[in-house]
Amino acid sequence: MNARAHLPPSAARDVPAADDNIYRRIFEFTPDALLVVDAAGRITLANAQAEKLFGYCREDLIGQPVELLVPSRYADRHAAHRTRFLAEPHCRQMGSGLELSVQRRDGSELPVDIMLSPMELGAARLTLCIVRDITERKAAADQLRQQTEELQRLHAALKEQASRDSLTGLLNRRAFHELASQMLKTAHRRKESVALFMLDLDHFKQINDRYGHAEGDHVLKRVGDTLLATARENDIVARYGGEEFVMALLGVDEAESVIAAERVRLAIAGISDTRQHVSTSIGVATAAAPVEKGDTAPLLDALLADADRALYAAKRGGRNRTCHVPRRPDAGTGTPAS
Ligand code: GH3
Ligand code: MG
Ligand code: MG
Repeated sequence: MNARAHLPPSAARDVPAADDNIYRRIFEFTPDALLVVDAAGRITLANAQAEKLFGYCREDLIGQPVELLVPSRYADRHAAHRTRFLAEPHCRQMGSGLELSVQRRDGSELPVDIMLSPMELGAARLTLCIVRDITERKAAADQLRQQTEELQRLHAALKEQASRDSLTGLLNRRAFHELASQMLKTAHRRKESVALFMLDLDHFKQINDRYGHAEGDHVLKRVGDTLLATARENDIVARYGGEEFVMALLGVDEAESVIAAERVRLAIAGISDTRQHVSTSIGVATAAAPVEKGDTAPLLDALLADADRALYAAKRGGRNRTCHVPRRPDAGTGTPAS
């Protein structure tokens, strides 16, 4: 073929007539490492970049099995790949996403991308291997991946921080609403009941007034720890504000919820490392398998309102006690009962 035939006239003027010398030079000075490998897997040609990349001079490469350049732990597998490739020769492009590496003369390894192109020259079945050093590209990709992972970690940490109350480490009110809504959806799906406890510490202001704000904070922390220690793994425990806490429990019916709330109340009454005895009043509301689909906000609001009314019934009843408001299955409101 006339190599000048496809060139625009201006370029054709500058290009010398095609001869073996031009092809040899193109092969020789291509910026990728080029190897030609025969059907037996022996290297038959190598260019200047191959010498540089692998650290061998050409004489040491020619005639050697190409596995010389494959890290020894992959050498057996590589020979099997080569046999399969020969049975079904095809052009294998770069960018396959495989993590490939070659071994240099000094034993060091380099990350590379490799293109394979079968060539038939008369009876000889050869393979042209184009080997590209991707050290820099890989380093940049690794750095980008590390940065992305770090950002994702920071994002998760920020999200976690934004959902926590800084004093007690419990979930905050916003996170409670989010998670309790999910719990109501789960309850609807699994046809399970849900219980909600609203807690308000008794005469908490006295603690602040008598022993100072720091002691008040200490009490809040101890109450937070106690709630967490009393809760089951899937219960939601949150500081709802000031000295008010809230818990949501899945799969707990009315009778069980009052027993569980009493356990919580007694655990708080059992806190001993505070300067004044601590107690809490608890309002309990329950919903049988919620009927609401989609938006759970109205049911959550109704449950919170029920629990709040029950809580104030507990306060009126003398504090340090649990009151329960039964919730009718139609999501109507019930009457407080102690
Ligand atoms: P009751 O038994 O009726 O609930 O009385 P109480 O004193 O607990 O209720 P009240 O609402 O009068 O007082 C709550 C107090 O909680 C008032 C507020 O200063 C205090 N408080 C709210 N948040 C914090 C906090 O983060 N730290 C401390 N130390 N005190 C807080
Ligand atoms: Mg209060
Ligand atoms: Mg209070």
